[in-house]
Amino acid sequence: MFDIEHYYEAKSVEDAVRLLSAHEDAEIISGGTDVLVKLRDGKGAGQSLVSIHEIRSLHGVRVLEDGTLEIGPATCFTDLTNHPLIQRYVPYLGEAVDTVGGPQIRNQGTIGGNVCNGATSADSAASLQTLNAVLLLQGADGVRRVPVTQFYTGPGKTVRRHDEVLRAIEIRPEDYVGFTGCYLKYGKRAAMEIATLGCCVRVRLDPEGRKIEEARIGYGVAAPTPIRCRGAEAMLAGMSVDDDRIYEVIGNEVLKEVNPRSSWRASKEFRLQLISELARRALREAIRRSLNHEAPGIASATRKGGDR
Ligand SMILES: Cc1cc2nc3c(=O)[nH]c(=O)nc-3n(C[C@H](O)[C@H](O)[C@H](O)COP(=O)(O)OP(=O)(O)OC[C@H]3O[C@@H](n4cnc5c(N)ncnc54)[C@H](O)[C@@H]3O)c2cc1C
Repeated sequence: MFDIEHYYEAKSVEDAVRLLSAHEDAEIISGGTDVLVKLRDGKGAGQSLVSIHEIRSLHGVRVLEDGTLEIGPATCFTDLTNHPLIQRYVPYLGEAVDTVGGPQIRNQGTIGGNVCNGATSADSAASLQTLNAVLLLQGADGVRRVPVTQFYTGPGKTVRRHDEVLRAIEIRPEDYVGFTGCYLKYGKRAAMEIATLGCCVRVRLDPEGRKIEEARIGYGVAAPTPIRCRGAEAMLAGMSVDDDRIYEVIGNEVLKEVNPRSSWRASKEFRLQLISELARRALREAIRRSLNHEAPGIASATRKGGDR
């Protein structure tokens, strides 16, 4: 049994905001794979829950008029991985969330919950960092857009206010067009394993496929919050894909920007080794995908309201 004071089923985002504003003890529940585990452990016992699970507008993926991909935060991982828009434009994000837990967790857990729990180990985190994803937060004072790179303030902590609902995750064309990417997760086993380390590398090559025009490197668990390694990214820009020094550069430069800790899962030293090695491997795969002509063009909205 769960020790819950009240369970409210919000009918709309506005309704959820109203319920959260009226009940200071209330917490949002989406898929519940974090919230219910926490309650079962006795944390937050006696609190109320505001469910956003039935709000239709929070589910699915669509393309806006300007080519922006809009991801509904209540979309579960399985639906995200299998969505044709994700597979076509940001497949590495679908691959990343396909590493979460096991099938039951992926059918129930949502990308919005994965972002809002504030965990550095969240498997969507590294990819969303490299995508410069923009989070639409709707609260009593209206809607604000927060870049995911400015969302996390510490372990399990974010800038989201109590009355705010994550309404959408936006990925703009300039952040996905022409890019290929790869997410690699290290864990001691292949399933039901929180990341010891997660790394996403994305590249856009020049039209001839010879040089790296832009590289983006994101990590989970390499620091108390998900991070980007912008110094290493800058060093890679302009380098030839045939020059093996790119792997030295990425493996060495990222170490200047990370701050992993020792935990029961792994020592700091082992994590540092993973940070270099996963980046090298992910870069190699991202380049291979680009040379294999897998980089997407701009998405177009197929009909008004997009494709859910
Ligand atoms: C057995 C098991 C294995 C797991 N394995 C992994 C793993 O390998 N990788 C991984 O990353 N995670 C893993 N998780 C954690 C969990 O499944 C994910 O974090 C999941 O994404 C949470 O989504 P949810 O919808 O279930 O969130 P919930 O539990 O409903 O909510 C999580 C938090 O986010 C808030 N929230 C949710 N949606 C919104 C919204 N739209 N707006 C504002 N706040 C919101 C809630 O208030 C709560 O604080 C695992 C969990 C379990 C139980």
